[in-house]
Amino acid sequence: MQEATDDKILYSGLIRLHILHHAAKEPIYGLWMVEELQRHGYKLSTGTLYPILHGMETKGYLQSHIERDGKTSRRIYQSTTLGKRALKSALGKVRELFRELVEEHSDHKKITRPKHARK
Ligand SMILES: [Zn+2]
Repeated sequence: MQEATDDKILYSGLIRLHILHHAAKEPIYGLWMVEELQRHGYKLSTGTLYPILHGMETKGYLQSHIERDGKTSRRIYQSTTLGKRALKSALGKVRELFRELVEEHSDHKKITRPKHARK
């Protein structure tokens, strides 16, 4: 489906920032992150998420280790210093984009207002 593919492209950065946000707060693992993203309305499988986590580790934003609990083992991810720094600088950009998107959206609704009444 063409639309879904396009949406994925739009959301890929948001998903990465979301991962970084949580990995900076606490250790996370793939399945937990899939559920967390689902809660926010992103439908992602672990098959899609794992390469993203791996790629972010390769880039140096995340670091991981294996944690064993009996028979099961799980790869745990945490943000690196670089990841935290990247998140901090992204925050300003996200805030600015958010402001612009939200303000222009509400401008749109007030389109019937006379021009001199604006600002
Ligand atoms: Zn979240």
